[in-house]
Amino acid sequence: MIKVHYLGTGAAEGFPSPFCDCSACRKVRQTGGKNIKTRSCAVVNGHVLIDLSPDIFTQSRQQGISLAGIDNLVCTHSHSDHLDLFSLMLRCRDGATVLPDVPDDKNYISVWGNAAVEARISQAFGNEPHANRQRLHFTQITPGVPFRTGELEFLPLAANHITGEKCCIFCISDGQNAFLYGNDTGLLPESTFEALARYGKKIAAVSLDCSRGTLPGDAHMGISECRQTRSRLLDIGVIDKNTAVYLNHFSHVCGMIPEEFARLAYKDSMNLTYDGLIVTLPA
Ligand SMILES: [Zn+2]
Ligand SMILES: [Zn+2]
Ligand SMILES: [Zn+2]
Repeated sequence: MIKVHYLGTGAAEGFPSPFCDCSACRKVRQTGGKNIKTRSCAVVNGHVLIDLSPDIFTQSRQQGISLAGIDNLVCTHSHSDHLDLFSLMLRCRDGATVLPDVPDDKNYISVWGNAAVEARISQAFGNEPHANRQRLHFTQITPGVPFRTGELEFLPLAANHITGEKCCIFCISDGQNAFLYGNDTGLLPESTFEALARYGKKIAAVSLDCSRGTLPGDAHMGISECRQTRSRLLDIGVIDKNTAVYLNHFSHVCGMIPEEFARLAYKDSMNLTYDGLIVTLPA
């Protein structure tokens, strides 16, 4: 089974963006509810965190989920909306994180990420005497080379997001089912489709970057790029026409609020994510 719990589904500035007075942010301040989007991260099977959002405190509290059982952090890239170093240091600070049932030599978090992620962590921990570096075991990941976090295999795949950094999306598999977690990225490079075709796993659900909404993509995708990506995944045979497609990391830039954009996406049989959404495979 793969259970993906979206703790946050927004872009870097969140929705409503605190310093923004655009019509979309104003409307979301009034409507609230599922229109509110904290910065993106997700928990898989209760113990793997994909990205560490600067909203992790609020997410944990509001969604009633303790993160004491998180033993792996899988990082897509080094941007601060996905890698909150202060929260990571708190996990590694003995006074802030007390795990009485975990023996001292097992009290660590495994962190998986690219060279830029490793450099940011090293720099932050170097400046923080209270963070215990023994509590963090880092492994550098390479696109195309799978790694395991217990029962789950993660295949990192090249994203198209920051020049000079090997940003990744992930195909997550439990041996029976596969889930594609795909943000932050613009249109994916051909090498990623080739790697997915070689991997040969049938993907049961796809989560794509749709920060741009109705606008054309750049280092993020809009709905048009999401349609193209779905078509390419169909072409290479890793999904079928019934595969669930989720749009994630949605932002205010196109001027639509989440409930408006969700209706538009639904016409294309795509689902806009929301904070607290849980996707379970098999359904
Ligand atoms: Zn982001
Ligand atoms: Zn705004
Ligand atoms: Zn980013």
